[in-house]
Amino acid sequence: METNGTPQSPAGDWRSYERMLLPPIQDLHKLGVYEEHGGYDRLRRVLEDDAFEPSDVTDEVKASGLTGRGGAGFPTGIKWTFMPEPDERPRFIGVNADESEPGTFKDRQVMEYNPHLMLEGILLAGYALHIDTAYVYIRGEYTDWIVHLKEQLENAYEAGYVGENIMGSDFTMDIVLHKGAGAYICGEETSLMESLEGKRGYPRYKPPFPAQSGIFGSPTTINNAETLAHVPLIVEQGGEAYSNIGAGDMPGPALYGMSGHVKNPGVYEFPTGMLLTDMIYDVCGGMARDKDLKAVVPGGSSVPPVPADQIDGISMNDESLGEVGSRTGTFCPLVLDEETDMVSFLRRVAHFYQDETCGQCTPCREGTSWLEKILARIDEGEGRMRDIDLLLELCDNMDGGRTICAFADGAVGPVRATVKRFREEFAAKCQASVHPVSTEVSAGAG
Ligand code: NAD
Ligand code: SF4
Repeated sequence: METNGTPQSPAGDWRSYERMLLPPIQDLHKLGVYEEHGGYDRLRRVLEDDAFEPSDVTDEVKASGLTGRGGAGFPTGIKWTFMPEPDERPRFIGVNADESEPGTFKDRQVMEYNPHLMLEGILLAGYALHIDTAYVYIRGEYTDWIVHLKEQLENAYEAGYVGENIMGSDFTMDIVLHKGAGAYICGEETSLMESLEGKRGYPRYKPPFPAQSGIFGSPTTINNAETLAHVPLIVEQGGEAYSNIGAGDMPGPALYGMSGHVKNPGVYEFPTGMLLTDMIYDVCGGMARDKDLKAVVPGGSSVPPVPADQIDGISMNDESLGEVGSRTGTFCPLVLDEETDMVSFLRRVAHFYQDETCGQCTPCREGTSWLEKILARIDEGEGRMRDIDLLLELCDNMDGGRTICAFADGAVGPVRATVKRFREEFAAKCQASVHPVSTEVSAGAG
């Protein structure tokens, strides 16, 4: 979108935007303060209004256009409609608070500053989907947040917002906190369910999707922690009004976790569709040490970087980022300056995936290991020119449905995009290599 040569932000007049997920209210995490500001009123309205059927909540969420904020961006309302009609089986919500994607740190802000908004969202989802048990699977390393959330959950139980006959209604729901043990793969929804069931966190094949066979084989909806915090906002203003906030393809407020080489990193709330340039130069005060920008990784390490010469007019929504071969992912842009060594950067990312693969699938287990090895030798000045294409060939043998889960695709995405977009940096390191340029292995070499 451009007017008179100036790119317009799909986020609209973001300077006058009033925060909804993390409003500037002192001690909002405390139940009393949350109640003073309308907390749990959305749930009360839904439970007390006989005309408000569970399916109405789902309809509002569908109308809102809310997309999952965990990284995949799947439409939440559509996901909810996958749940079968209630039968004799138990039904569950899995709340994915296992936030572990490198550079992603915004769910924890919700749990710290507005935990009851997330809890109210879980309860509204439970009501909508006829579910009486939710498991919040929280990242094990979030030790302070676990204690904090547990305390607020206990307060909500005591006040009658969680548990039996909530607010005197027929609706009963328990919320159980479950602490992860530090494995990134347990944030993958099927692995999360295995882990919850007390098993090793190995991803399962999909289909069946969780709605068909989820926790303990029962119908389950898995939603990201922040995603559920949007639900009370949708019930309050109605799905249609919510859908007019931000970018049309993935509307609503968003938490932007800004990190890397900017002057003021942090978590900022604005509508979706913020221009990357506005986020970097306006919101975050510009590049740290006034260096030039080299690239932005828009949302988590699994997402392709956007080189600086392509970011003008690009906004934080999938439609716009798709134009430059990337996507929003977790809405947490990692900003890299001109001095960033892209080979070293990618090597570090590859190390993460090599370390975190669960090892079930050969292409992923072996592939992540080889990606790291090759990147390490290029980075250390021992690469051969053919290593650059070897990296790309390896990628082609790892993704595109060759593995059980999307982890391998996540590992490959940044490698393929970084090598293609910054090939000259890889070539320069290989050319300067102390290794003979010849591809032959000399006799006697080990
Ligand atoms: P996915 O696209 O496979 O699925 C997204 C969601 O939509 C899932 O809940 C899935 O069950 C549902 N879905 C998709 N197709 C469906 C269908 N045909 N029928 C029914 N349901 C369907 O992606 P994913 O593996 O869940 O997530 C991958 C993303 O997660 C990556 O982008 C990665 O960056 C991100 N991620 C984020 C974190 C974090 O810390 N936030 C950690 C790891 C990965
Ligand atoms: Fe495990 Fe990787 Fe296979 Fe996913 S793709 S199941 S992480 S080996």
